[in-house]
Amino acid sequence: MARLVQKFGGTSLADIEKIKRVALRVAREVARGHDVAVVVSAMAGATDRLVGWTRETSRLHDAREYDVVVSSGEQVTAGLLALALQNVGVDARSWLGWQIPIRTDDVHGKARIRSIEIAELKRHLSLGQVAVVAGFQGIGPDGQVTTLGRGGSDTSAVALAAALKAERCDIFTDVDGVYTSDPRIVARARKLDKITYEEMLEMASQGAKVLQTRSVEMAMNHRVRVQVLSSFVDAPGTLVVDEDEIVEQQVVSGIAYSRDEAKITVQKVADRPGVAAAIFGPLAASAINVDMIVQNVSEDGLADLTFTVARADLDRAVAVLEEKRATLGFAALKPDSNVVKISVIGVGMRSHAGVAQQMFQTLSEKGINIQVISTSEIKVSVLIAAEYTELALRALHTAYGLDAKE
Ligand code: ASP
Ligand code: MG
Repeated sequence: MARLVQKFGGTSLADIEKIKRVALRVAREVARGHDVAVVVSAMAGATDRLVGWTRETSRLHDAREYDVVVSSGEQVTAGLLALALQNVGVDARSWLGWQIPIRTDDVHGKARIRSIEIAELKRHLSLGQVAVVAGFQGIGPDGQVTTLGRGGSDTSAVALAAALKAERCDIFTDVDGVYTSDPRIVARARKLDKITYEEMLEMASQGAKVLQTRSVEMAMNHRVRVQVLSSFVDAPGTLVVDEDEIVEQQVVSGIAYSRDEAKITVQKVADRPGVAAAIFGPLAASAINVDMIVQNVSEDGLADLTFTVARADLDRAVAVLEEKRATLGFAALKPDSNVVKISVIGVGMRSHAGVAQQMFQTLSEKGINIQVISTSEIKVSVLIAAEYTELALRALHTAYGLDAKE
């Protein structure tokens, strides 16, 4: 008899019919003799609507009241699923974040979980009662409701699985697993049976929006085995696990892309100590994250510095630098949002040479210009013009031997 956490996303709970179907799915695990804790998201679209209402009411809203409003979507689905379970003969009750309690810090709107007092919930589980837990929410040090940031119910589920020492945390969503690349673009993308935490972390932060990034960090730190699977089909999904659970490791596991990038080139700044600090300091002070950076040295003692920021920060970044124009002394600022970041990801890169070279070669054969490069231990990323996204993804997918067999 195992202890399982099952998390259902908004599309799986979008209406009463779907909630009833979820209840049957949960009932099946209960019938197998497992102790089950279920974590729910709000109905699809519900959280967006709640966020909209807070904005409409008050543009500069109090984040504590924002949390009171936006956390309510999960209260509805938790109660409804508990009812639906009772209707199919399964003993169940709902739990709100504060009732467990799931304690967080006080950063309203994107709080972090500090601890979960699990004893009482465990006692109910051991009596054979299903716990339906409202995801996305907790209670802050001031006793007020907090939320964990958009997509945060994934993190609720993994945290609960860690606290319960659950055998597995199943994340039911509207896709049937993690793919080698985006199947909407790469027709021959394959579903992965297994992927390592590190790779999933890179995939999640590179724009493959299957799991909230923070939930993957938490799974990795607590060694929670996570499965991503569809609530609409009855098939195993993708297991996110430790590296040594994967017997035959591919060098490259996946190719991700992010359209959430924008490039800024600062032309002709003095090539001397302190210039990078003078440029990136004010950006950091304005909470603008810089991702990729490249600097070319020119002969007259002036250099061009190119870097990327999130697309939503582009205008602000330009304004911050324009304001410092006199002290920085650059010739021109060139913003460009027509770019995409493509990343090749795989833990096998640690022990295999030539992965980056193969990427550069493949792109050059397609006549695609690389504008910026960055690398980490298990990832190579390049910035290219947005119109080459599809071509680049497909070519790289083939080059690394990831294509599904016909
Ligand atoms: N309902 C919340 C959101 O839409 C949390 C979640 O679904 O994970 O962000
Ligand atoms: Mg989600």
